[in-house]
Amino acid sequence: EKIYDLIIIGGGPIGIACGLEAEKKQLNYLIIEKGCLVNSLYNYPTNMTFFSTSEKLELDNIPFISNNPKPKKAEALEYYRRITTSNRLNMNLFEKVDFVEKKDDNLLEITTEKTIYQSRNVVIATGFYDIPNYLNIPGEDLPKVYHYYGDPHFYATRKTVVVGASNSAVDAALEIYRKGGDVTMIVRKPEIGRRVKYWVRPDIDNRINEGSIKAHFNAKLSEIRENEVIIETPQGRQSMENDFVLLMTGYRPNFNFLEKTGIRLSDDGREIPHYDPQTMETNVPNVYLAGVICGGVETHKWFIENSRIHAKIIMDNIVTKS
Ligand code: FAD
Repeated sequence: EKIYDLIIIGGGPIGIACGLEAEKKQLNYLIIEKGCLVNSLYNYPTNMTFFSTSEKLELDNIPFISNNPKPKKAEALEYYRRITTSNRLNMNLFEKVDFVEKKDDNLLEITTEKTIYQSRNVVIATGFYDIPNYLNIPGEDLPKVYHYYGDPHFYATRKTVVVGASNSAVDAALEIYRKGGDVTMIVRKPEIGRRVKYWVRPDIDNRINEGSIKAHFNAKLSEIRENEVIIETPQGRQSMENDFVLLMTGYRPNFNFLEKTGIRLSDDGREIPHYDPQTMETNVPNVYLAGVICGGVETHKWFIENSRIHAKIIMDNIVTKS
């Protein structure tokens, strides 16, 4: 049976960066992605603009040419796809990895929904976009409730509640308002998030101040019903007529998957997986982490610009060992 030098789990930007670096080092590698190519990016909002300028999204110095300083989702899909196809990266799509197990000191077994692979090393680059932070409130499972936002047109003329005050909540609220939706934001804190893109901030503040977008601060959504929602505000409990609820409350890495693999998580509430920053190797020998997964629940810590270097660090380490 074939033994790989390296299996990379996740075909996002950082999984691709690892593939490029593995090619250079002539390692016998395979990338396994559970969805389509750059699946997380594909599921981002249709009109999403990156907060990074295009050169900061580049992998391996391959130019990312965009007419805008900050590229759009469609351009990023084009960029990462072209990198993958023109470098003929070895990637299996639509194959989910279920778990990774140690066979012996030098061999890992990777079980997917389709088959079992053997590899000397594994890189986990599975990001954080698959699991939403649930509110665990009554009605959250109603079909009118979404944890992912796609296109504003869907919400035109409808009464939509947007929960959250970070970039994704703010982008969704503004877009839906501009497509004729009736938007109410429910914000836990006293103000819009501090990390909201600096050029978007005045837009949302002004829309709220003029009343075009309604906002309740220091408030929380406590129940979702078929035609209304219940919110708790400093003025007390209120019921509001409602058609759709968008829960833009963030996402989290698949901690179960990491723990099943034997990777320790910090117990300070941040659930940061254990790895050596010099090599990116976890406490499980020959299992590495790459990309935004490294931040635990602090999903804003790592992004493409500061995690694309993980690829080289890991491949250098793998080559040195062998
Ligand atoms: P991901 O892109 O999330 O890739 C992980 C991949 O692993 C996914 O394709 C997933 O399908 C796959 N996967 C997961 N589990 C399995 C499994 N069990 N088996 C097989 N495959 C699996 N970063 C920036 O640098 N600049 C930005 O402007 C920016 N804007 C963002 C906007 C939004 C709305 C969001 C949500 C994030 C943004 N980020 C941005 C962060 C961005 O997500 C990451 O920087 C980037 O996607 C990280 O790449 P990654 O490869 O680590 O993870």
